[in-house]
Amino acid sequence: MSYFIDIKYLNMVGHKLPLFKKKKSDLWNCRCIICGDSSTNKKKARGYFYRQKNDLYYKCHNCLASQHFGTFLKNFDSHTYQQYVFERYSQGENGPKAHKSAEKYMTFEQPVFKKKSKLDEVAVRLDMLPNDNEAVQYCLARNIPLAKFSHLYYIPSVKDIAKIAPQYNTIKTEEPRLLLPFYNEAGELTGVTMRGLRNEALRYIMIKICEDEPLIFGMNTIDKNEPITIVEGPIDSLFLPNSLACAGTSFGKLESLSLPKENITIVFDNQPRNTEVCKIVEKYIKLDYNVCIWPCSISEKDVNDMVSSGRNVQQIIQDNTYKGLMAQLKFTEWRNC
Ligand SMILES: [Zn+2]
Repeated sequence: MSYFIDIKYLNMVGHKLPLFKKKKSDLWNCRCIICGDSSTNKKKARGYFYRQKNDLYYKCHNCLASQHFGTFLKNFDSHTYQQYVFERYSQGENGPKAHKSAEKYMTFEQPVFKKKSKLDEVAVRLDMLPNDNEAVQYCLARNIPLAKFSHLYYIPSVKDIAKIAPQYNTIKTEEPRLLLPFYNEAGELTGVTMRGLRNEALRYIMIKICEDEPLIFGMNTIDKNEPITIVEGPIDSLFLPNSLACAGTSFGKLESLSLPKENITIVFDNQPRNTEVCKIVEKYIKLDYNVCIWPCSISEKDVNDMVSSGRNVQQIIQDNTYKGLMAQLKFTEWRNC
């Protein structure tokens, strides 16, 4: 992803570089503006932009300048550079080492979990990992927004979780997993769920770190004064603004939170054939919550699948949220889909 942003910005400033042209795929050439190239031969062009993995680099065969494209851009066009840094880093990309000075522009875009978490002892934040990491690949395949990668972790060996939650020393397996952390409103780690990446029979391993706190995903990031969407799955919540996930259908946790009912929309998975789910949907309609009732035209079973099918889920939820008698009516339709 970052490489394409590099190319975009190279093309934006290319017309200002002397003798700039594309030589072939992944290679561009210009007169070197660092050394001025040759002072006698105006046709000499010994500066090259070339690809290395997921980054663009600049190298001059005359002065031997060698730097990341970001460093080059910073010195060449500081205004465009600021835009570039914003676009590249707001998508959750890491700064390459050669491009250290960009960090000062990154501070205002820091993700919420920037402060050192005890999770760092056993896991690595997804936005710190290379693209070929198993958990990164998994999240890319599920179309999770890159901006959310800083909220997620990769745990290389699942049994290491006992280092921060000793009561789980019974976990003996060593497979890597995707780790989703739960925090309370104060930002304290209350638990984690760890999603298998290799078709493990046990897809999720749930870990409680604070015994007396309900595990609700997203508590540390929501604004209680704005409309809140509540879904079942933590991953699904990553696709919706100002949302929480109950990690299952135990929505009873909600009542302990004292959130204003009128601000809440409950979004259950789309499983009209599941009698247990139907009972819970009906319960929350009777409790007079706003509930999203999926239209029969939608076959995908959860928010993530809908997003992956190209649906505008936020809009669908907005158009299909009901309460009271209308919700009851739509619920009957849905159950008979
Ligand atoms: Zn040069």
